[in-house]
Formats: sequence, structure tokens, C-alpha cells
Amino acid sequence: NTFADIDLGDALNLNIRRCKYVKPTPVQRHAIPISLAGRDLMACAQTGSGKTAAFCFPIISGIMRGQFPQRPRGVTIHEEARKFAYQTGVKVVVAYGGAPINQQLRELERGVDILVATPGRLVDLLERAKVSLQMIRYLALDEADRMLDMGFEPQIRKIVEQMDMTPRGERQTMLFSATFPKEIQRMASDFLSNYIFLAV
Ligand code: AMP
Repeated sequence: NTFADIDLGDALNLNIRRCKYVKPTPVQRHAIPISLAGRDLMACAQTGSGKTAAFCFPIISGIMRGQFPQRPRGVTIHEEARKFAYQTGVKVVVAYGGAPINQQLRELERGVDILVATPGRLVDLLERAKVSLQMIRYLALDEADRMLDMGFEPQIRKIVEQMDMTPRGERQTMLFSATFPKEIQRMASDFLSNYIFLAV
């Protein structure tokens, strides 16, 4: 019932204590074990529910323990990952649209484990051949309904298509959305395999 009961790896558990998180929120309580068990997840959760940590913790924990040969290994959509990854050996790079791309490119060249990106900027990086998504182990799509409202569905589909080279069953995908309209249901069935549906 507390984070101390969930073994996410010493360095991450320490960061969680540093953040003064004691009890998992409802979305964390349910989503973290599902993701640690390797299952795909469709979660309906609002901003403020603690969803960022719900997808960051299993990804950081998995990368810390895993033996994944290729980089980048995960794409997620939030900067908080940096704080959670502090001193875990997991390197987070942020690539937001609107920010100068050159610094992002220099950081990417130095190596990356988790790439936090907006869809438009990620497509740009793919077109410049600055990132490869072919061996992605974890994909977290956050605020999927908002990305669709902003017209990013083509970019998201293009990004996910790049990951279809990953051997089947070797990519773990988490889709977070505040609402679950038909378009999101379609994305869930296109991007997730045998997923667990969570509504909090
Ligand atoms: P989010 O829903 O990811 O935007 O998170 C909402 C806020 O809750 C953020 O400021 C987090 O730092 C905070 N938070 C997330 N999980 C916990 C937790 N288990 N205990 C206390 N605060 C948390």
C-alpha cells in the first residue's frame, strides 16, 4: 500500500522518497503492477491523477534492470521522467517542438534511454534520421485525446509505424487518455496488444 512495498529498484525507490510520494495514487496502484507484469495498458486518467509517474516508474525500472541492446528504448511524453530518473543511470532526453532543435540533436548524440517528445518534433527527428525507433521497448502515449484534438493523429501513426519493426510482443505500450471516445478506442486496438483497460 506504500511505494516501499513496490520494488522498483533502489535508485528509483530513493527518488520516489525524495519526491515525498508515500502512497501510490489509484491510477498508480493499478497501472504500475500491470506494466511491471509486462502487459499493455489503456488507462483513462485525468491530469492530477498521478498518471505521469504511473507510466514513468515501470519504464525507468524496466530500463534499470533490463538488458536492452539498442537506444533509445522508450518514448514517453513528459519531462518529469528526468526527476524520477535521477541517479538511476537512465538517461532522459527531451525533444519538444518550439524549442531549438540543435541542442536536442547534440543531446541525442550523447546517448538516450528515454526520449520524451512531442509528436511533431519526433517526426522531424525521424525524417532527419536522427533517431531510430526500431528497437523501442516501451511506448507511452500520454494525453492521447488531446493529441488527437490538436490534429496529431497522422504524426502519431507515423511514429508508431516506425516501431512495427520491433519483434512482436517485445514492445510494451501504455496509452493514457482522459476520455475514451471512438478515435481513442481505435488507437487502442491498433497500437496495443491484448491490453488491460483501466478506468480510475
Ligand atoms: P499528474 O497526474 O501526473 O500530472 O500528477 C499530478 C501531481 O501529483 C504531480 O504534481 C505529482 O508530482 C503528484 N504526485 C504524483 N503521484 C503522487 C503520489 N503518489 N503522492 C503524492 N503526489 C503525487
